[in-house]
Amino acid sequence: MQLALVNNEKVEAFTGGRGNCPVCGAETIAKCGPRIMHHWAHHRITDCDPWWENETAWHREWKNKFPLECREVSDVAEDGEIHRADVKTPTGIVIEIQHSTMTDAERISREEFYKNLVWVIDGTVFQDNFDIYHMLPNPKSELAQDLVWSKAKRHMNGANAGLFFRLSEALEDAPSVTKATLRGGWIHGIYDIEEEVKKSYNGYHQYDWVRPRKTWLDAKCPVYIDFGDEHLVKLDTYDESGLKCIRLVSKRKFVHDVMVEDKAENIATRFYPITSGKP
Ligand SMILES: [Zn+2]
Repeated sequence: MQLALVNNEKVEAFTGGRGNCPVCGAETIAKCGPRIMHHWAHHRITDCDPWWENETAWHREWKNKFPLECREVSDVAEDGEIHRADVKTPTGIVIEIQHSTMTDAERISREEFYKNLVWVIDGTVFQDNFDIYHMLPNPKSELAQDLVWSKAKRHMNGANAGLFFRLSEALEDAPSVTKATLRGGWIHGIYDIEEEVKKSYNGYHQYDWVRPRKTWLDAKCPVYIDFGDEHLVKLDTYDESGLKCIRLVSKRKFVHDVMVEDKAENIATRFYPITSGKP
C-alpha cells in the first residue's frame, strides 16, 4: 500500500518508517529500497484486504493524480466488511484501478460493495486486440437520430470506415421499424455525411475488441481503459440499436470530473469551462 497511519495521519512510506494499516490496524513497515517502488507492508500478516492487488508503477501513477486524502480510503459496509478503495473522491465516487484480470464474481462483488464506482483498467496488455474505427456523431445530435450504423469488426473494411442505414428510408417500407429492429435497407457510406459527423463529434467511435475480457463488457459500473496516451477509452452503448461503441475522454477531463460529479455515470457528461490561470 502507498499510505499508512503514522500518528493518525496517512503518510507515504519513508526510510525506517513504522506505521499502522488503516484497514486492520496491524503494524506496517516502510519498504524504501533503491530499486523498489516505496510502499508499506504488513509486518506479520499478508495484506489484509483480499481485494488489494500488488501495485504496479501504472497503478501508483494513477493514484498520484489525486490528492493524498483521496487515496486508499477505507470503506465499511453495514455488515462490517471493510475494503480499501484505490481512490475515493470528496463527492463519493470510488475509482478502482485494475491492472490484472478479474473474474465476474470479483467484479460483481466490488460493484455491489462500492456501488458509486468507476473502473480504470490497464489496456496496454491487450492493446493489439483493440481497434478503434470511424467517428460517430454525438448520439444526442439530430443527425444521429436517423442513422443506424453497421457494426465494425476487424477485417470488415467497409463497416470500419463507416456504413449506415437511414431510419427515415426504412420507415417508408416498414412503418413500425425502429433503430432496434432495423436489419437492412439502402446502405450509405460515411463519406456522404463526413462534414456533419465531424461537426457533431464528441469522442464516440466504433471499435472492435478481439477476444475481449468479457467481464468489462458486462460491468454495471462505467469502465474506462487506459492505453497509455492522453485519452481514456470508455466502453459504451451508442443508441437504441444496441451498437457497442467507445468514447474517448481526455484523462484531464476524467480527473476533473470525478472530483466534482457525485455519480460515476455522470463523468464526462457535462461541459466545464477550463478555469483560466491553470495550465
Ligand atoms: Zn491491514
